[in-house]
Amino acid sequence: MPEKRDYYDVLGLSRGASKGEIRKAYRSLARKHHPDKNPEDPEAESRFKELSEAFAILSDDDERRKYDTFGHNSPGGSPFGPGGFQGVNISIDDLFGGDLGGIFSQFFGSSSGNRRPKGSDLMVRHSVPFQTAMDGCEEEIEFEALRTCDDCEGKGSKDPSSVRPCPACDGRGRIERVERIGPFTQRVVSDCPSCDGDGRIIQNPCDSCGGSGRSNQTKKVRFTVPAGVSSGVRLRMRGHGEAARNGRGDSGDLYIEIDVEGHEWFERDGSDLLMALPIGFADLLLGTSVKIPHVDGTDITVKIPAGSNPGDTISIPGRGLPGQGSRARGEVSVVLKLDIPSSVSRADKKRISEMYDILGTNEDDIEQKIRDEAYRRRNSRIR
Ligand SMILES: [Zn+2]
Ligand SMILES: [Zn+2]
Repeated sequence: MPEKRDYYDVLGLSRGASKGEIRKAYRSLARKHHPDKNPEDPEAESRFKELSEAFAILSDDDERRKYDTFGHNSPGGSPFGPGGFQGVNISIDDLFGGDLGGIFSQFFGSSSGNRRPKGSDLMVRHSVPFQTAMDGCEEEIEFEALRTCDDCEGKGSKDPSSVRPCPACDGRGRIERVERIGPFTQRVVSDCPSCDGDGRIIQNPCDSCGGSGRSNQTKKVRFTVPAGVSSGVRLRMRGHGEAARNGRGDSGDLYIEIDVEGHEWFERDGSDLLMALPIGFADLLLGTSVKIPHVDGTDITVKIPAGSNPGDTISIPGRGLPGQGSRARGEVSVVLKLDIPSSVSRADKKRISEMYDILGTNEDDIEQKIRDEAYRRRNSRIR
């Protein structure tokens, strides 16, 4: 098989072409290469298919984005399904001002074959305490959604005898016709207009749901929030969304967006926990050790070495939160802050000033101190 050409090359366009330019290029090339216009040319059909495929992709925002990213090797496979592009039913008239969008939209999105329409997906937000990020939890929520009507079991009718197949579509809900233009045959399937795609006519509709087969109901859903969860994570509960119309087809899905409440002192960076620890000047100078209650149930002991500076960070590996999808826990990072008393009595001021002989004052060779500090900072940065 010859290698597939770049869609932009096929239409003779640059990558930045606007929608209008794409439409214009396709109309003009497709008119020229339409098989009806080139009955003697055996290549015309494949050339026309190539043009139409390129247009189908580039005129659809989603498909164009995928193509721009992955080229012909999109991870989901061909957007036209396993058989690839089969041609499209376009007459020469369509190429002069016809509604091309309507013809091409059949490939993507809503009209994807004979699959039954699924019920709508729903989303709810759910808040959990910070502790959940450590331990995970089992939760239960109650919410209201359109569900299969209990009284008629989704059938929409009071009694089975009042339901008859729609005469227009023979109960299939869909109308199918085969169109042939030039060398192409195309099966066009659409919802039956008489029964709105349902395939049935209900003469005696159910009182509870008025024949729709669905009613608003409150239901409980239990779910597991995994340890390591962070805000914005969405849990998907298959089949817990809205019921499909007329009780036929699958229910939609329920998405639960988790919001993790904050902690009193921890800030979170993925599975790492950050906190500030105020330490008095004497403890920074002489060293100490501080015990803090922790979210994993065991106190953490922060060892502050003698001669520590405010701003120094002490890392405690393996005591952060569990990572999502992995067993490894992050670290706790403790940043030391100097704890300055907010007020000092006259008597204390006197006692502190008596320590000048130990601690020094700024009157001592200040330039040398600044030089030493700059040197220390430079070296700590290199390391
Ligand atoms: Zn009902
Ligand atoms: Zn019908």
